[in-house]
Amino acid sequence: MSIVLDQLTKRYEHHAVVNRVALQIHDGEFFVLLGPSGSGKSTILRMIAGLAPVDTGRIVLHGRDVTDLNPQARDVGFVFQNYALFEHMTVDENVEFALRIRKVERKQRTERRDQLLDLVGLAGLGKRLPRQLSGGQQQRVALARALAHNPAVLLLDEPFGALDAKIRTDLRRNLRSIQRELGITTIFVTHDQEEAFELADRLGVMNMGRLLEVGTPNELYQRPQTEFVATFLGSAN
Ligand code: ADP
Ligand code: MG
Repeated sequence: MSIVLDQLTKRYEHHAVVNRVALQIHDGEFFVLLGPSGSGKSTILRMIAGLAPVDTGRIVLHGRDVTDLNPQARDVGFVFQNYALFEHMTVDENVEFALRIRKVERKQRTERRDQLLDLVGLAGLGKRLPRQLSGGQQQRVALARALAHNPAVLLLDEPFGALDAKIRTDLRRNLRSIQRELGITTIFVTHDQEEAFELADRLGVMNMGRLLEVGTPNELYQRPQTEFVATFLGSAN
């Protein structure tokens, strides 16, 4: 599913925190939005997910204008940094809950739940409670839930931000192989240049509400067009 952002703008108190962002993401692409804290990355994801209203501009998913549709009507799954699992429910129950609210029939839920847990590498851990899992495993449950309704678009907002380096590396590889296997169009938000370079088919660099440059990691690294991008990407070394 392709994603088109057409002059997307969001203001808080007359200040544009997302300023006329125009972007086309291809079907099946892994796109990374990279930028410093406060640059507007999360606000863009929240608008695409339908969790924050758009002031001006349009969001078009696979040719369909979804700008004014509610979140359930958008065929989008998302994972945030602070994964909110239900603490009193087992892993199985957390995933089943997501299937139930997405109206997957009872008969199919168990099979689908086991498929999802297998996909994210948690087969056999379904009876545990969230507190009996590591941070990385909890984030895998959050990913399984986001994929429960088989969305065409996956949005990830600094999903590994709270985890330590080794676990982050494992999860990145894992996420990438799941994304390829499903062919799901993905936007991954991070402020970490190394993470962006490792994951992205293409990336966009943001600063102060503006999307400054878009390209492959190589293009942006080798031939940055702005001083900001040169400095921001160079600082990874
Ligand atoms: P990022 O994810 O890149 O760190 P955000 O999209 O969270 O940036 O925020 C961009 C800017 O918008 C920040 O200056 C932030 O303070 C502001 N902002 C975000 N949400 C709100 C809100 N609900 N009300 C007012 N300002 C907000
Ligand atoms: Mg953010």
